[in-house]
Amino acid sequence: MAIDKVILITGGSRGIGAATALLAGRSGYRVCVNYHRDQAAAEQVVTAIRDAGGSAVAVRADISSENDVLRLFEAVDKEFGALCALVNNAGILEKQSRLSDMSAARLQRVFATNVAGSFLCAREAVRRMSTRNGGAGGAIVNVSSGASKHGAPNEYIDYAASKGAIDTMTLGLAKEVAAEGIRVNAVRPGLIYTDIHASGGEPGRVDRLSAMVPMQRGGRPEEVARTILWLLSDEASYVTGALVDVTGGR
Ligand code: NAP
Repeated sequence: MAIDKVILITGGSRGIGAATALLAGRSGYRVCVNYHRDQAAAEQVVTAIRDAGGSAVAVRADISSENDVLRLFEAVDKEFGALCALVNNAGILEKQSRLSDMSAARLQRVFATNVAGSFLCAREAVRRMSTRNGGAGGAIVNVSSGASKHGAPNEYIDYAASKGAIDTMTLGLAKEVAAEGIRVNAVRPGLIYTDIHASGGEPGRVDRLSAMVPMQRGGRPEEVARTILWLLSDEASYVTGALVDVTGGR
């Protein structure tokens, strides 16, 4: 297998990001596994990719910090060279709550990571990939959420709204850079078995709600990862500005 493409996956240490990193490693990408706090988890993903014959490195960076994002992309440039794929995956949610109980500090945290962080990473990727700047083109996949359609009442309207912003960014940026060799798409996962539900205070949330899913089950991170890798690949060469639901029909 020729390993000649470079991919950055934000939040690649756990959950959907880790599954995407592992699959990318098996699909011929050199993988930059970004993480925020859990270095051991990130190193595990890197080791698994290398053990399978791939190439990977872990880089700590808080994507809500512009300085960290600049350092992250410089690390990719230095370690691997020309970036051709970005997965804007890192995202957070906070304890389930009604909007009337949400503090300004919480809103700032959620929007700084989910919205500003994704914008900053997209900015750095476009600066490198755009043929307008002498780049070779590339592809971006934003990880939105089915919550952008449902609104997540009584749980996290802030999170759902941050993903609505990601949907809109995907539509606008796809058109902005379509003639510059860059495709921009989003996946909107539904209920996927990862740790994120514990951050919301309900680790068993997927099982509680899975009866509402037409397919009657939660999804696995690997099922989202396969869709992301397809969107990044040449198989999706005429797909841009698409919001692809990976929700079991919900
Ligand atoms: P997860 O298991 O909680 O993992 C989150 C990942 O993001 C971790 O690798 C974490 O790194 C990283 N991260 C968090 N804040 C970060 C920051 N400020 N800077 C850099 N990295 C940061 O989450 P997940 O469920 O896989 O979610 C991944 C994406 O899918 C998110 O955008 C989420 O909104 C979206 N999504 C998930 C579901 C679902 O049901 N699971 C559904 C729809 C959409 P550390 O551990 O090192 O901090």
